[in-house]
Amino acid sequence: MTEVPELNVARPAVERAELLTWMFGRLRAEYGEKHLVPRREPMHELISTILSQRTTQQDEEIAYQELRQLGDWDAIIEAPTEVVAHAIRRSNYPESKAPRIQATLRAIREQRGGYDLDFLADLPVGDALKWLTDLPGVGVKTASLVLLFNYARPVFPVDTHVHRVTTRVGVIPRMGEQAAHRALLKLLPPDPPFLFELHLNLLRHGQKVCTWARPKCPVCVLRERCDAFAIYGNDVPSFGEKK
Ligand code: SF4
Repeated sequence: MTEVPELNVARPAVERAELLTWMFGRLRAEYGEKHLVPRREPMHELISTILSQRTTQQDEEIAYQELRQLGDWDAIIEAPTEVVAHAIRRSNYPESKAPRIQATLRAIREQRGGYDLDFLADLPVGDALKWLTDLPGVGVKTASLVLLFNYARPVFPVDTHVHRVTTRVGVIPRMGEQAAHRALLKLLPPDPPFLFELHLNLLRHGQKVCTWARPKCPVCVLRERCDAFAIYGNDVPSFGEKK
C-alpha cells in the first residue's frame, strides 16, 4: 500500500508558522538577505502597484513614467480619461486602470487635501489598511505593499507568486489571494524586516523555481518539506489545475 505523507496543510497553526520560519531561512540562503528600505516614494509605490497588475516590471515602469509626463497628480485627475489610458498603454488593461487611477487620486485629494500619505505611519495597522483599501482602485495587496515597503508596518503583501508557493508547500490550504493574505498574516511574526525579506524571496522563488507550470522541483530548496512535492514528486501540476 502506498504510504500517505503527513501534509503540512493538515498540521496545527503553530507548526505551519514554524514552517514559514524554516522557509525564510532556506530562501535567505538561496537568494540573500534583504534590507527594508523604501524602493520609491509612497504615491509612486501606490500608483505603480495599480499599473503592475498583469504587467511586466519593465512595462509598469514605462507606463508610470509616461503617466507622470502628463503633469502633477492634479493634472492627471483633470486629464481626459482616454489621454490617461493612452499614457499607460504599456500596462495591461489601460482602459480600466485609467479611471481607477484618476478615482484613487481624486479620493486621496478630497480626503487629505493633497497627496501626502505619511499619516499612515501613525495609524493603527488595521485602520491604515482600511483607509487604503477604501480607495476606489486599491486592493489589499497594493495597500500592504505601500504599508510594508514605505512605512515598515507589519503586513504581508500576497501576490500571485507568494500565494502559489505558500499554497503548494502547504502553509495554507487552497483559497483566494485575499483570504490568503489574512491566513498568512495570522501565522507570521509582526516583524516588518522579516515580512519584507520573506515577501521578496518568495516572489523570486515563484518567478524562478516554483513557476505556475512545470515547477523546477528537482532544484528547489523547499522540496524536502513541500506538500505538493510529497504528493506529486517531480510532476507537480500547474497551479490551479487538479490531478
Ligand atoms: S518542491 Fe516544487 S512545488 Fe514545492 S515549492 Fe519547490 S518548486 Fe514549488
